[in-house]
Amino acid sequence: MKQLEQIKGIPVLPLRDIVVFPYMVVPLFVGRDKSIRALEYAMNSDKKIVLCAQKNSKIDQPEKEDIYSIGVVSEILQFLKMPDGSVKVLIEGLSRIRILEYLNNNNFFQVNGEEIKTGIEKTTDVEALMRSCIDQFEEYVKLNRKLPSEIVNSVSNIEEPDKLVDVISAHIILKIEDKQKILEMDNVKNALQAISTFLESEIEILNIEKKIRGQIKNRMEKTQREYYLTEQLKAIQKELGQEDERLIEIEEFHEKIASANMPKDVNEKALKELKRLEKMPPMAAESTVIRNYLDWLISLPWAHETKDKLDINEAEKILNEDHYGLEKPKERILEFLAVRKLVEKMKGPILCFVGPPGVGKTSLARSIARSMGREFVRISLGGVRDEAEIRGHRRTYIGAMPGRIIQCIKRAKSKNPVFLLDEIDKMSMDFRGDPSAAMLEVLDPEINSAFNDHYLEVDFDLSKVMFVTTANVIPAIPIPLRDRMEIIEIPGYTEEEKIKIAEKFLFPKQLVMHGLKEENLILENNVIKLIIRHYTREAGVRNLERELATICRKVAKDVVSGNGKKQVKVNEKNLDGFLGPFKFLHMEKEKKDEVGVSTGLAWTEVGGEILATETAIMKGKGKLTLTGKLGDVMQESAQTALSYIRSCAKKLNINDEVFQKYDIHVHVPEGAIPKDGPSAGITMAVSIASALSEKPVRKDVAMTGEITLRGKVLPIGGLKEKILAAHRVGIKEVIIPKQNSKDIIDIPKNVLEDLKVNLVESMEEVFAIVFK
Ligand code: ADP
Repeated sequence: MKQLEQIKGIPVLPLRDIVVFPYMVVPLFVGRDKSIRALEYAMNSDKKIVLCAQKNSKIDQPEKEDIYSIGVVSEILQFLKMPDGSVKVLIEGLSRIRILEYLNNNNFFQVNGEEIKTGIEKTTDVEALMRSCIDQFEEYVKLNRKLPSEIVNSVSNIEEPDKLVDVISAHIILKIEDKQKILEMDNVKNALQAISTFLESEIEILNIEKKIRGQIKNRMEKTQREYYLTEQLKAIQKELGQEDERLIEIEEFHEKIASANMPKDVNEKALKELKRLEKMPPMAAESTVIRNYLDWLISLPWAHETKDKLDINEAEKILNEDHYGLEKPKERILEFLAVRKLVEKMKGPILCFVGPPGVGKTSLARSIARSMGREFVRISLGGVRDEAEIRGHRRTYIGAMPGRIIQCIKRAKSKNPVFLLDEIDKMSMDFRGDPSAAMLEVLDPEINSAFNDHYLEVDFDLSKVMFVTTANVIPAIPIPLRDRMEIIEIPGYTEEEKIKIAEKFLFPKQLVMHGLKEENLILENNVIKLIIRHYTREAGVRNLERELATICRKVAKDVVSGNGKKQVKVNEKNLDGFLGPFKFLHMEKEKKDEVGVSTGLAWTEVGGEILATETAIMKGKGKLTLTGKLGDVMQESAQTALSYIRSCAKKLNINDEVFQKYDIHVHVPEGAIPKDGPSAGITMAVSIASALSEKPVRKDVAMTGEITLRGKVLPIGGLKEKILAAHRVGIKEVIIPKQNSKDIIDIPKNVLEDLKVNLVESMEEVFAIVFK
């Protein structure tokens, strides 16, 4: 049993951020009044005081609960009062003490306690532990640059285990709690073990730190080496005379930048990049990137503008020279140009030509450029999904380039070209960003004077550009873009118009392009009409032009072999020798009146088309089957048609039993082509009603209109194209919704003269016309 010495009435000095161990001599600066009084009391008695750590160093006026209950009895070696009232003392730790009770003293902490003895027998176990602690401590000091190496000597001479614990603990850098834990251990063996563990983990951390420091140093050495080598390379280049070439290149760049008429900020940017290039070794990959970048900056028309011709009469002449018909679009273009002439700096809407392919949208835009004396450039936005295609990739990206807008501007060589953005309705969006948002920035006159391309980094002024856009259909144009556009619709041509266009424009153009003279190739009567009917199926004239080109090409071969004198005549009989067998047999109108078959008028992206709808009934349970690749809207309108017919079955002389005992199958032929939209509603209703009532439908009537459940007929779109299609196949009578009567003025007169147009509001009227 250890003999415990009782210590009575000893003062206590709470310490904020240090744990003092026996054998340790420390200087302390004491400022707190209570602590100074404790020290003074000790100085006046036996100079002994207990040093005890605070549990939380942040507390300024600790209570007894805030102080650990185990501390170290110490002796004050020196006591020095400073001029500011604080006290500096030098203290030596003597032995551990456990505080048993605090005395009632308001001036300072004063306690009774008992001494803790930690002596231990030195077994081999303990000896081994001691040695390993000493070794670890040695390594620790070596790695830790904050500790002087001499302490290793003083430690390795220590024989007593408890002293070793105290001395090592005093020196290693640990958290207050951990140190206190060691101080509180009265089993020396445990304390040695704890120290050994602490040291081990500290050594590991220090080793990692050392490794990291080494890596950083390595890296720095590497850059120094590179620098040294490039300097050497420069010297070698100089010897070989290559330096001259470099200087010439840099000089050339200087000249080009100076003559590129760049705005101030761009000029600064260019010079800055050039400086970087100068400093770089010529072989460095990065220098190629800078060269490309400078080439781009130099080649853009920062200041070059063409002078506008704004002569309306001249413009009209040019538009007529290039295009047949198109009265309405031409008129709108001329108005647009007139306003432009009156208001010099117009931030007006952007023209948008909407219509099927091949109706002359691109070529109208080209004519606008020609009539204004501007350059013409175009890009197709069809399929553009990535914002970067419009705005470019950042230069950090390998192989980066400016976006398509800036590429085109470079091609235009002027900052005010007519810029055609084709197929603006065909952009799509995916995870790479929304190109239509970027387009908005391009087109918005408020912000496009500072268009920012990711690659260029500097702004380019697009405000002088005249943008013209095209689209196939209006609904697919992103709405924010649509709001900024003036839409001009170009619906498609009648057969007569196509023939005129072919005779006056396409054919002469193709002759010239193939180096043929008029007398080399004669197209006899009806040939053009045949081509239109059987080799093309389109609202525009693109394929027609292509077929004419095919004929010209074949004839050119003959003509060359005949020394340019040969004449070829193409007629109805030999046409297939040039173009092959007929590609299309247009849906002909029905040959005779039939039950369950009605003729509809449909609208597709390539123009109008007539479409038969067939209904068959067979024994079954009243199921409705729809085939022919019908979209959701069309399926719903078939359901609506059927429900309507059921609701007025009696009036149509249809037996109500039919609906339970028969299945109804509606088919819209040419099943491979997807069809949708509500405008076949009345056609399907007629077909179903005919099949159920077994009344034949008049074959010479074609119809279009949306149907409601109560049998009302609602208006539809694309009327002109539909009527043209009906006319093309020789239909003499059409049924259209009354509310579409306003669209009739768009239809060419000669077509209306051949057609009887019935304007209807209800299905009853439709039935009255189609069932004789
Ligand atoms: P889009 O841009 O509408 O698809 P294009 O402008 O490319 O069509 O026209 C296709 C071809 O048809 C061009 O060679 C064009 O000159 C010609 N073309 C179209 N419409 C007319 C027209 N009304 N008069 C003369 N040529 C036309």
